Amino acid sequence: MVIKSTNPATLEINGEVEETSPEALEKIFDEARAAQRKWRLLSTAKRARIIVKVNEYIADHIDDISVIISKETGKPPLEAFNAEVYGIMDAAFYYYNNAEKVLDAKEELDLGFYSSLDKSSFIVYKPVGVVSVIGPYNYPFAIPFNQIMQSLIAGNSVVFKPSSDTVLVGKKIQDVFDSIDDLPSGVLTTVFGSGSVLGNVLVSKANRVVFTGSTETGKAIMKKAAETLTPVCLELGGKSEMIILPDANLDRAILAARWGCFTNSGQVCSSVKRLYLHESIAKDFTRRLVDATKKLKQGNPTDPGVDVGAMVNETQMNKVLQAIDGAKKEGAMVLCGGRRNPAFKGYFIEPTILGNCKNAMQCVQREIFGPVLPIITFKTAGEAVALANNNPYGLTSSIWTENYEEGIKLAKEIDSGTVMINEVVYTFALAPTPWGGVKSSGIGRTHGKMGFLEVVDPLHIHVDKYNAPDAWWMPYDKDFAEMMENFKLIAKSLIVRD
Ligand code: NDP
Repeated sequence: MVIKSTNPATLEINGEVEETSPEALEKIFDEARAAQRKWRLLSTAKRARIIVKVNEYIADHIDDISVIISKETGKPPLEAFNAEVYGIMDAAFYYYNNAEKVLDAKEELDLGFYSSLDKSSFIVYKPVGVVSVIGPYNYPFAIPFNQIMQSLIAGNSVVFKPSSDTVLVGKKIQDVFDSIDDLPSGVLTTVFGSGSVLGNVLVSKANRVVFTGSTETGKAIMKKAAETLTPVCLELGGKSEMIILPDANLDRAILAARWGCFTNSGQVCSSVKRLYLHESIAKDFTRRLVDATKKLKQGNPTDPGVDVGAMVNETQMNKVLQAIDGAKKEGAMVLCGGRRNPAFKGYFIEPTILGNCKNAMQCVQREIFGPVLPIITFKTAGEAVALANNNPYGLTSSIWTENYEEGIKLAKEIDSGTVMINEVVYTFALAPTPWGGVKSSGIGRTHGKMGFLEVVDPLHIHVDKYNAPDAWWMPYDKDFAEMMENFKLIAKSLIVRD
């Protein structure tokens, strides 16, 4: 059986890959486990040196990779380069320079009184074994690639399953790693197939699952993982808000809102999906944002000058169109867009802005994974934070103000994995910064130090250089009772008084 890849903008077939059967996948895990036993013996520095070689291949294939991403997802190739390819090269370089600091750190612990008995403890990090990386369709290169690099540098092997919508990008990721001569075979294997068919094996045979996708699938994976107590890192849906206070740089905020909502046709976990405007600026800001949005050029993403391409497939497009219909029934007003773009055969939705929205509406509460931006107004900063928090998701947030201290104060009140002051979306591209959410947006973090710590187990090593029996060992005789009296004195010294 094969999986066909379709260009969502032109509906042409891009190519196909062979599906992996669940039985073959079981064998792939066994091979990955055998490969990992050798791979983990290399030093972190050596593994990082091998992995950073991905940049040699990518540098020679920047345009091909960007075009493949474009043809499978519907986004412009320059956007694919900027948001996916460049970010990965930057991350590879960063991990090469910084992995040892995290993974080889030997954290000595303060044992207090026990240190006086010649005892010491420290923590080292061990690879977990085989990591399943399960990727989404929207950033099919950058998201899994980053997770694969972190897992491999940490000494794991990886079984990677891309979304069935983006199998050729998945294949390209395997090509990139296969171009590295000294990467042992079996350390990374890309498999293809529907998540509902391969999911059970991907979860039950792995030592760790790093999943990116919808909250619904994340919950199904966590349920399955409970059977084997397999730890999971879940990067799930979002409904990221942008809060504009009256003192913000409005010219910059308008362009940020436009990019933040409509880049990748709104198919971004962290795209701006709710816009909260202070009532004093709402009318003017909305008018200018709508005008700016109407100027976006939609079209075949491989044509020069196109800003907004297509949705990934017909199902996603129809889900978004239904959500727009639902919003209209709830009382939202379509200020621009609001429909499938009739000029094209492919799955295009016009950039859509919805006015007259209230926080309780479904279009404000639920993730709409497409180019749709509901606008809500507020009277005070405190009200804006309360409205923002009154939502099931908590991935990224954005506050716009020239008063940075006030912005940081408000940021600390927001339930989110990341709060950007005067920025939107882009911190995903910063390899050192943690990526992940709270509430229905997921569990765990990828990228940077925290991303490495998701794919290792901490090993506590305790060393005892005391050469006599410990005081608390049996027998519990008179000497023991006396020793415990001393302990009681120590216990009483542990009170903190002002
Ligand atoms: P899906 O949840 O539909 O799919 C994600 C991946 O999971 C695909 O590879 C899919 O395979 C696989 N899958 C499906 N069912 C199972 C299963 N039972 N067991 C194991 N794997 C399974 O998400 P989308 O690809 O549609 O991505 C969009 C969603 O991802 C949005 O909600 C978005 O917000 C979120 N997302 C979150 C990010 C974050 O960092 N927090 C980043 C990017 C996206 P297949 O498709 O082949 O069936």
